[in-house]
Amino acid sequence: MSDGPPLHEISSARRYAGGVTVRVVRAGWFRPDAGGFFGVVPAPLWRRVTSTDDRGRLLCRLNLLLIEAGTKRILVETGTGVRMSDKDRDIKGVEGGDPAAALRAVGEDPESIDFVVVTHLHYDHAGGMVDEAGRPLFPRARYVVQRDEAEAARGDELRLAGIMEAEQLEAVRAAGQLAEVAGEVEIMDGVTVTRTGGHTRGSQAVLIGSSRPGGRAGDSTERAIFFGDLIPTRWQLPVRWTSAYDDYPIDAVEVRSELVPRAAAEGWWCYFTHDPGDLPIQIEATEKGFRVREPA
Ligand SMILES: [Zn+2]
Repeated sequence: MSDGPPLHEISSARRYAGGVTVRVVRAGWFRPDAGGFFGVVPAPLWRRVTSTDDRGRLLCRLNLLLIEAGTKRILVETGTGVRMSDKDRDIKGVEGGDPAAALRAVGEDPESIDFVVVTHLHYDHAGGMVDEAGRPLFPRARYVVQRDEAEAARGDELRLAGIMEAEQLEAVRAAGQLAEVAGEVEIMDGVTVTRTGGHTRGSQAVLIGSSRPGGRAGDSTERAIFFGDLIPTRWQLPVRWTSAYDDYPIDAVEVRSELVPRAAAEGWWCYFTHDPGDLPIQIEATEKGFRVREPA
């Protein structure tokens, strides 16, 4: 077991434009292989920002977002779920990973979730869409997945064989709970999913904070973004630091080089799906590139 923070935690709520609130739910630990995670980046460079265990793995977390918008509750990401083999859990260093257990541990009811946003269909994001028996884990929720991602999962590309959670996706679809979306779609006032691609064909990010006028006086005007695996931790802020797991690295660099400067210029609060540190953070531009803005 890990020293330090507990397996399951929830952050205090931060309020954004349009009255949307966001909390970070920590659903467990996992330890991706550093070589794969940093891809083409030479080890002497990434070793300046993080370090590995004796198996060459990085200590990362499985971060979910619990968003409240109006009367609706949105869960972003589902962790690994409970269907991984013990061998697989050992290789990937997974502890926990069950989103329902994580929610209950912090006093939240999985049945209260209205929407589940899955950024993409890899095991550490989509594995928890279903329970041990393969039924949708969030009984009242609509699951929001980009159509491109669902089609890639159902396709027959060799690189994706056994990589995408196609069985989980089919279980959700068969239960009538799948909402396939295309491109940029507002799920609730102030909560928008947008297709980024890059990491996978239909990866999506979540934008938080309404751009519409008409908020009440005194409301926050702040915005936030959850990048999914397009930028999995703060360590990957250099926009060309793609991972070996990025299926479309050229696209990933292009989209990152649009979003990161915008996040810095507009002061967006940034949430990362695998970052072990305190979230959210803001980004600043420096002569040497983008970095985390230290709190004033
Ligand atoms: Zn991931």
